[in-house]
Parts: sequence; structure tokens; C-alpha cells
Amino acid sequence: MSDAPQLVVAVDQARCIGSGLCARTAPADLALAPNGRALPTRPATGGSAELTEAAEMCPVEAITVRDATTGALVAPVW
Ligand code: SF4
Repeated sequence: MSDAPQLVVAVDQARCIGSGLCARTAPADLALAPNGRALPTRPATGGSAELTEAAEMCPVEAITVRDATTGALVAPVW
């Protein structure tokens, strides 16, 4: 069993401009919905370099990755 921290991904639908950058960078965790906005693909994730990169690359800072237990912001961090 993995002891990786359980993380929760959120996308601010009001901010997302549908560039698709995150879905291409971290397809395991983010995908474009039919309305053209990105959505998390699963309720929780162990995280990955790709997910961190996606959160940090979003041009409008719409993605947040948080510790599911504490709510602490894991990405983006600059
Ligand atoms: S990178 Fe940001 S703006 Fe682009 S689709 Fe993902 S959440 Fe939306």
C-alpha cells in the first residue's frame, strides 16, 4: 500500500480559459470537460511531477492541489 499523501485537485471554473495545457501535461489528473473547461479526473490523487507542473503552468492560476487532510496548498508553489 502506498503511503503517498492524498491530494485533492480543484479547478476554478470562473478562471479557466480552456487552454487545455493542464490536460496535456497531466492527463491522469486533469481533462477538458465538454464545456471546454478543465476538471479533475478523480476525487483524490497521490500527485505527480506532471500534476505539479500543470498547476504551476496554468496561465490563469486556476488549478490548486491541496492536501486532502489538512487543506494545505501543495501546488502551485513558486
Ligand atoms: S491550464 Fe488552466 S486555463 Fe488551461 S485548461 Fe487547464 S485549468 Fe484551464
